[in-house]
Amino acid sequence: MTFRFHDTVPVDTGTVSVAFTDRSLDLGDLAPDGFRGAALAALAEATGATPYLMHQVHGSDIHVVDDPAEPRPDADGLVTSRAGIALLARAADCVPVLLVARTGEIGAVHAGREGVRRGVVSAAVERLVTLGATDLRAWVGPHICGSCYEVPDRMRTDVATAAPATHATTSWGTPGLDLGAGVVAELGAAGIPVVEVGGCTREDDTLHSHRRDGAAAGRLAGVVWRTP
Ligand SMILES: [Zn+2]
Repeated sequence: MTFRFHDTVPVDTGTVSVAFTDRSLDLGDLAPDGFRGAALAALAEATGATPYLMHQVHGSDIHVVDDPAEPRPDADGLVTSRAGIALLARAADCVPVLLVARTGEIGAVHAGREGVRRGVVSAAVERLVTLGATDLRAWVGPHICGSCYEVPDRMRTDVATAAPATHATTSWGTPGLDLGAGVVAELGAAGIPVVEVGGCTREDDTLHSHRRDGAAAGRLAGVVWRTP
């Protein structure tokens, strides 16, 4: 398999890899029988780590992963200090965010509209700090852009009140939200350097998009793992 984006970062306790998948894999829960299992097996092979999924619920709860055999939690962020676990944040328009500390702790966050409104990225940062993380860096993966993500005006106001950078207008002149800008602003306010991987899921048909493909859309993933 190939990643859309892959980079490695030296940390105090080894090497951390950050990656984002594309439409060549479908990691969604609705993937045809056996298909997601094959996708996870390919991911395990490519990373040399055990993939760990969460059941994403558009909230701001963060789960600390100690054992990849645990059942998947209801959460929108995963963090761990352990090597050998590949944390996945899955998305099809929402923003997958990966966090890496110089001290080796890692995190994967699913930042959708509700997550951005509730500050899910900041919640993950705070949890990492409680694990001892210092000198965090972030990677913001492909997501729907503000020119494509149309929402009702009241919804735009609601989200932009909590995260002003999200306020956007679509390319056809209606109210929109730029969730990526909201995430980048949140990370910037925390003093965390950000790499924006780029790519609009709705416009780039090598990526999964719920707005473009509807309920049958697959899921891409941000993936982060540490190798000792
Ligand atoms: Zn777009």
